[in-house]
Amino acid sequence: MGEFDLIQRFFTWPTPRAVMGVGDDCALLAPSAGMHMAISTDALISGRHFFANVDPQALGHKALAVNLSDLAACGARPVAFVLALALPEVKNAWLEAFSKGLFDLAQTHGCELIGGDTTRGPLTITITVFGEVPNTPTEAASHGVATGALLRSGAQVGDDIYVSGSVGDAALALRALQGKIALPESVMAAAKARLEWPKPRVTLGLALRGVATACADVSDGLRGDLGHILERSQRGAELQWDALLSLLATRKNYPGAAPAFDAVFGSDFAAQCVLGGGDDYELVFTASETKRLAVTQAAEQSATRVTRIGKVVSAHGITLMDASGKVLPSLAVGDFASFDHFSPG
Ligand code: ADP
Ligand code: MG
Repeated sequence: MGEFDLIQRFFTWPTPRAVMGVGDDCALLAPSAGMHMAISTDALISGRHFFANVDPQALGHKALAVNLSDLAACGARPVAFVLALALPEVKNAWLEAFSKGLFDLAQTHGCELIGGDTTRGPLTITITVFGEVPNTPTEAASHGVATGALLRSGAQVGDDIYVSGSVGDAALALRALQGKIALPESVMAAAKARLEWPKPRVTLGLALRGVATACADVSDGLRGDLGHILERSQRGAELQWDALLSLLATRKNYPGAAPAFDAVFGSDFAAQCVLGGGDDYELVFTASETKRLAVTQAAEQSATRVTRIGKVVSAHGITLMDASGKVLPSLAVGDFASFDHFSPG
């Protein structure tokens, strides 16, 4: 099969929104009035971001999911994407499954595949997504940029800090797949689903427009990604230890529940997973205390669990607090330090 047959067979789907989709030198998109285009790109490289033998359908899903997660973090509605694919060889069954994983998620979010590039090379999947977000600032977020997009820079002292869904379970699955830890089979299945089938929080992101003051997606670990919000907003955070621990689904669902999990892994391990984790694709965001009801409504509207984990403060850095408000010694996250491809360690 030649390059063009391959594109035609596996990557050419209806594109009603685009003026021109796959087949010409450029795709053409008509911008909507009153909207900014939100653009983001993410590459997944075999052996670095996924195991070469991963289920290709899951891979197709994840390659788009991690990109849609960036749109979600901006409160943008997905419109279209382009796909640059490097393949070591053409295997029909693999492409069929990959294409299905990609297509199913694209369809769920009305995100059209409008173009790309196909080459021979070590398996690499690079997707660029395009989304739309209103171009008018909302009352909730004041970050000196004229847009209705959720940015990282709007967190205010006194804001609540929230996280969607569960956090840390994907990182646990990765460590189990690497043979570093052992998880009971039922727990492993759920954790692996978090790693391989992340759910981009697009609907929640849309519902948080005009509610959140700042937002980011949790891709490299909560401590690091919340850290980006705090840095861009020039603020710090106080986080509730108990709320953090509640974010790890694996700990709750472990046979014998939290006490059994802690007995096996040690008392700080759950917090290490949550703060250092990675690959969760949840949203971390801040909102004024006056918006608590609006946050609850956004969570309900999008059928997404949202947990309040702490507060924005003026002193820089992240402080951990127990239920009585006592400051806890800072946690060594060790092996769970936020992921950084170029960190010297
Ligand atoms: P060019 O040589 O001008 O870069 P190509 O011959 O590579 O264009 O691609 C032909 C058409 O197929 C273009 O419209 C391109 O966007 C599209 N295309 C190529 N690879 C992919 C892919 N993996 N998925 C979707 N569209 C693709
Ligand atoms: Mg080309």
